[in-house]
Amino acid sequence: MHNLMQNWPLRVERIIDHAARYHPNRKIISRSVEGPVTHSNYSEIRTKALQVAQALSGLGIGRGDVVGVMAWNTARHLEIWYGAPGAGAALHTLNPRLFADQMVYVINHAEDKILFVDHDLIPLIEAIWDKLTTVKHLIIMTDADHMPETKIPGAICYEDWVASVDGDFEWVKGEETDACGICYTSGTTGNPKGVVYTHRSNTLHALACQSPDMLGLSSRETIMPVVPLFHANGWSIGYTAPMAGAQMVMPGRDMSPAGLYEMLGHGVNITAAVPTIWLLLLQYLEANQELELPDLERVVIGGSSCPRAVIETFQNKYGVQVLHAWGMTELSPLGTICSFKPEVMELDPDARVDVQETTGHPPFTVDLKITDDEGRILPWDSNTQGRLWARGDAVVGEYLKGNQSATDSEGWFDTGDVATMDPHGYMAIRDRSKDVIKSGGEWISSIDLENAALGHPDVAEAAAVGVPHPKWDERPILVIVRKPGKEPEPADILDIVSKRFAKWQIPDDVVFMDEIPHTATGKISKLQLRGILEEMNYKLPG
Ligand code: ADP
Repeated sequence: MHNLMQNWPLRVERIIDHAARYHPNRKIISRSVEGPVTHSNYSEIRTKALQVAQALSGLGIGRGDVVGVMAWNTARHLEIWYGAPGAGAALHTLNPRLFADQMVYVINHAEDKILFVDHDLIPLIEAIWDKLTTVKHLIIMTDADHMPETKIPGAICYEDWVASVDGDFEWVKGEETDACGICYTSGTTGNPKGVVYTHRSNTLHALACQSPDMLGLSSRETIMPVVPLFHANGWSIGYTAPMAGAQMVMPGRDMSPAGLYEMLGHGVNITAAVPTIWLLLLQYLEANQELELPDLERVVIGGSSCPRAVIETFQNKYGVQVLHAWGMTELSPLGTICSFKPEVMELDPDARVDVQETTGHPPFTVDLKITDDEGRILPWDSNTQGRLWARGDAVVGEYLKGNQSATDSEGWFDTGDVATMDPHGYMAIRDRSKDVIKSGGEWISSIDLENAALGHPDVAEAAAVGVPHPKWDERPILVIVRKPGKEPEPADILDIVSKRFAKWQIPDDVVFMDEIPHTATGKISKLQLRGILEEMNYKLPG
């Protein structure tokens, strides 16, 4: 006897239905792209999402279609987040920081039929409009008063378009395994690759994210996703918050420390973004000593390695717990979060921060292993570095039009990261496999070197790269951006690094640059950096 329980498809529209029915008055406070802060709630978001779904159906959009959105984190974006899948379509989130060629590539590759675009981003679309082969309609996410002049024919005004239908509509029915969202990796090597999330993977992933050892989100909380909804499935917060009935504060396009600080003032007790955002916010607070963070309790930091100084400042100075996280677009994106297990709670505060420099342990829905290059399993002893593999119900199986499995025969996905595991299942990212510095047959973690260099008070940004060496294969050097008006000596920086590294691991040189190149997701682009060093004809000393 089997299958006597209800077959209740895991569809994301159920998330907004649940929020609207059981948490209708929980607020969505949003800085609109037009400027003013707007107030909405889950009931209103659902009503607008139904109107979006209805109006999309009116434009002929249905099951199997793809709808693109290029927008900042606002309430409107959330309406489309549910409206597009509610019309049966997959929502393709577009990163406005992509280079024009990449933007054309991903829109055509995913075959977006409709584009929703914030009104300030219209010039980006105008510049590529002639090269878009599948887009039928452009919907400008604003009201009639703020419609920009555009040369794109037939551009639709979002608010008028939504108001043209009554919302008396039922979500388009489909399978839980239907496509729900599409997000491309940033394409640091080659063309970006499309990851297609299903309703089922997004729902299960949100349940996992919400759990106590992960985000630990409840209806008593207010979360501000600073991480854009277009980056790595928006770290799932667009699903996790309404599922928990948590209030949302949407920061809009102003990601300056002052802008974010102001939005934190709306009772935000948990927030999430990449380390750079928090480095800037902490610098802003340092320069404005009178400012405090009275409501903030937890900050999720991931996307790249979180420097120890950031963890310590948040926790010791502001009483805000840091949740260091690791994830990837291919994992929906959550892989691990560094929350405390009992054995970590027992440690003294300093040793606990050591643990927080790792990226933590996975939820039930993610399984990890580390192997050597031949695929042999490596021990979880905190020291042995290996290739990190992941599998789970929200991990990529195949890329869009990839025509081949993205996993090995046992369903493990090669993350491209190099990691260690500790006996308690805490994982530490040591590097990306293509960035790890291989010297004399040993691996040196570029991330660890960078974090050590950031311990110098005059260092604004640090990148460690391997430079070819006739004897050792590669030797590490540090590329440093100095804080404005500061002139640290190379020896002082290496002195700090030497406190945490063996002699053979210490970089051979320190090179100062005015800036370091970044990818569209704001990470250091080692590829471009190596190119710059080559152009400079850089040679190791001695
Ligand atoms: P992209 O590949 O487009 O930069 P992703 O967000 O998918 O965007 O990047 C995933 C990668 O980011 C991971 O494979 C890993 O190398 C890096 N990463 C994510 N979180 C961390 C972290 N906490 N520490 C170190 N690296 C991280």
